[in-house]
Amino acid sequence: MIQVFIPLNALGFVYREMKRALADVEGMFDILDVTPAIQDSDHAEALPVGADGIRFDNVSFSYHPDRPILKNVSFTVPAGKKVAIVGPSGAGKSTIARLLFRFYEANEGDIYIGDHAVRDLTQDSLRAAIGVVPQDTVLFNDTLQENIRYGRPDASEQEILDASQHAMLSAFIEKLPKGYNTLVGERGLKVSGGEKQRIAIARTLLKRPRIFLFDESTSSLDSRTEQAINQSLQKIARDHTTLMIAHRLSTVVDCDEIIVLEEGEIVERGSHDDLLKQSGRYQDMWRVQMHSETE
Ligand code: ADP
Ligand code: MG
Repeated sequence: MIQVFIPLNALGFVYREMKRALADVEGMFDILDVTPAIQDSDHAEALPVGADGIRFDNVSFSYHPDRPILKNVSFTVPAGKKVAIVGPSGAGKSTIARLLFRFYEANEGDIYIGDHAVRDLTQDSLRAAIGVVPQDTVLFNDTLQENIRYGRPDASEQEILDASQHAMLSAFIEKLPKGYNTLVGERGLKVSGGEKQRIAIARTLLKRPRIFLFDESTSSLDSRTEQAINQSLQKIARDHTTLMIAHRLSTVVDCDEIIVLEEGEIVERGSHDDLLKQSGRYQDMWRVQMHSETE
């Protein structure tokens, strides 16, 4: 392992690894009692540079054999494009994210990045390539600065400031007496759900991943902040393959394709305009949301 070559402080190493494991397990998957059983295969290879399209090919999955969750799900996110997945809660949207990140393995079908089946990739290279903004983020008992820096430990202070700016965090942080040195977490400042989400976005922007995976990552923000963040995300994620799981449909209007998932099945797909013309689930969801926003 790395320790053989780099004289790392052993405790520091363990601490960082623990932090990483925590962020993977709790942050992305909000499951505390399950340790990922997925191992690299013997012939696992690192994901090469430049192969960034995503493809789900007839993927079926269940957490428990008697309850299928995803049923024959097929879609592609061509390299550099943006695809959204929408649908009611419990439909299986986050499960798609978990499979892409290979926290679980598909029971049937395959998932590819470029031409590379995810099951044949090293987990490290896969997770380095994908920047996830999860539904619920874990903050460490550390300063705001360190919580953001976690996205890329060698980032400069200026880069941290820039990422915070794009995530609409700077005004909030600069008002705090200790600014970026404010402690957060159990023994520090309690932050709201929306502030947490913005910290998670800043982290991921700092990481500069090749592929973005947003899982309802702006659901706790008011719609004005959400819009402003989405504008900067659109600039930054432009030309990056992006899979966007969204709650509010106003955030997916510009996506190249929108996939409507219901009970683990794709029931509709197309651009926003296409879907509005069909008198289907998307049109219903759009009407309901427009109605509740104008009330
Ligand atoms: P969504 O993100 O669309 O709300 P999820 O993908 O999180 O839906 O969940 C889909 C279904 O799978 C839900 O019925 C949920 O209860 C179930 N589920 C999610 N995680 C687990 C798990 N670790 N074990 C068993 N069932 C799960
Ligand atoms: Mg979800």
